[in-house]
Amino acid sequence: MNIHFLGTGAGTEPLCGIHHQSFAIETGGSLYFFDAGEGCARLAHLGGVNLLKTKAIFITHTHMDHVGGLGSLLWNMRKLHSNVGYTGFVCPKVVFIPKLATYDAFMTILHNSEGGFDTRFDVSGKEYSCGEIYRDFNITVEAFATNHVPHSYCFRIVCEGKIIVYSGDIAKVADLDSAMAGGCDALVCETAHVSLRQVCEYAKSQHAHRLYLVHNGREVLGSRKQSELSAANLFGDTAVVTNDGMTVVL
Ligand SMILES: [Zn+2]
Repeated sequence: MNIHFLGTGAGTEPLCGIHHQSFAIETGGSLYFFDAGEGCARLAHLGGVNLLKTKAIFITHTHMDHVGGLGSLLWNMRKLHSNVGYTGFVCPKVVFIPKLATYDAFMTILHNSEGGFDTRFDVSGKEYSCGEIYRDFNITVEAFATNHVPHSYCFRIVCEGKIIVYSGDIAKVADLDSAMAGGCDALVCETAHVSLRQVCEYAKSQHAHRLYLVHNGREVLGSRKQSELSAANLFGDTAVVTNDGMTVVL
């Protein structure tokens, strides 16, 4: 699978070259978004990713740095399908979100935009809570509550026989205990509400094989070189301080 890291920043004011949180997993000819921070559609499309392959979008919680790009992500799918002449079959898109009212608000905006957001593919929203929220022949996604805010979740993702844990936003690393049970092939973890040291030590103690640091705030971004060195020392050489636009093969 390819993991496309799109926006890798925390919910800061605009910073040069850093967008809010989003990544996408590309597997079996399909695409799955995890969070949809500002500019995620633009970053994916300009990075050569076909947005029309999207089957599902999973939102960890409805803060703006995780949903700010949702409207333009859906809008760009319609644009690519309707206006740029793509004629192939386009699969339905489902947005999994903890508060359906937020999805409905984006849809109101889209329905009031050009063409009434009339698409030739289905788009729907689905509210979720804890437990397995999605399964198809490519991927399984299970949600676990975190203590960041009410209705915030982390995900345990199974894809191509590998386990990926995505933190969303957390209050403490122990929020990930249930999702991490038994270890994982890759932990994608935020560094804005917990320190880089805490994340690295936790990932090592929980037997993560790889560590991708995302949702990076000023502490990490302000001294990226030092952060990379610290991550390598604390976790090992499979720790990566991600950048916007970075793709890794897992
Ligand atoms: Zn956030």
